[in-house]
Amino acid sequence: MNIPEIEQNIKKINARIEEACKNCGRNSDSILLVAVSKTKPNEMILEALKGGQIHFGENRMLELEEKMFAIKDDSIQWHMIGNLQTNKIKKIAHRVDWIHSVEKTKYLDEISKRAEENNRTIKVLIQVNISDERQKGGCKPEDLAEILNHAKGLSNITVAGLMGMATFTDDLEEIRKEFVLLKQLFEQHQSFNEGNIQLTELSMGMSGDLEIAVEVGSTMVRVGSDIFGSRN
Ligand SMILES: *Cc1c(COP(=O)(O)O)cnc(C)c1O
Repeated sequence: MNIPEIEQNIKKINARIEEACKNCGRNSDSILLVAVSKTKPNEMILEALKGGQIHFGENRMLELEEKMFAIKDDSIQWHMIGNLQTNKIKKIAHRVDWIHSVEKTKYLDEISKRAEENNRTIKVLIQVNISDERQKGGCKPEDLAEILNHAKGLSNITVAGLMGMATFTDDLEEIRKEFVLLKQLFEQHQSFNEGNIQLTELSMGMSGDLEIAVEVGSTMVRVGSDIFGSRN
């Protein structure tokens, strides 16, 4: 992928989102594009930023820390989308805006503590395992209520929604089924909305399945390879 193509690729993704919205009667303003820049150099992020992209996602805490340090641009919103480690949360809490991959109460406690130390609020999404692949991470659907209850009253975090990843498969009906499950969980837990729990975001859909995700009700799509090129 050479750098000049990135702006073009972002335009193409926005056109795909637009088209998917048109096909199901949604407004594309209701969908946020998170450009997943993991493994890619800072120059590519800066190029995307020049093209108007402001939300960037990373899946490794150290890589995110390094990129946030190297690219000091206040307009960027940084999203942590990968596996968390409790002892590294303090390294990103001073700057990260969104954490999509919260699957355990211990992470909520640590994010709250570190956000408070930094005098800021971090928006979190609870990741739910909707696939049959264990390595995808996320809590079990039946544990969601307990996690939301735990989050109630924790300072300096807002629980803004749910995140999920579909099984890696060509079976579009399987992907749809999994996204529908996440959408249903999202609807079923709206009753928790109060104070710092405000479930408004549904983070689902990637390069290969964003159209299905939009159709099912996604509000955040996380797109990497179709913007920045494939990864080794
Ligand atoms: C890598 C990654 C993405 C982006 O995947 P692509 O297929 O490259 O678009 C989305 N979400 C998560 C959690 C990821 O780790």
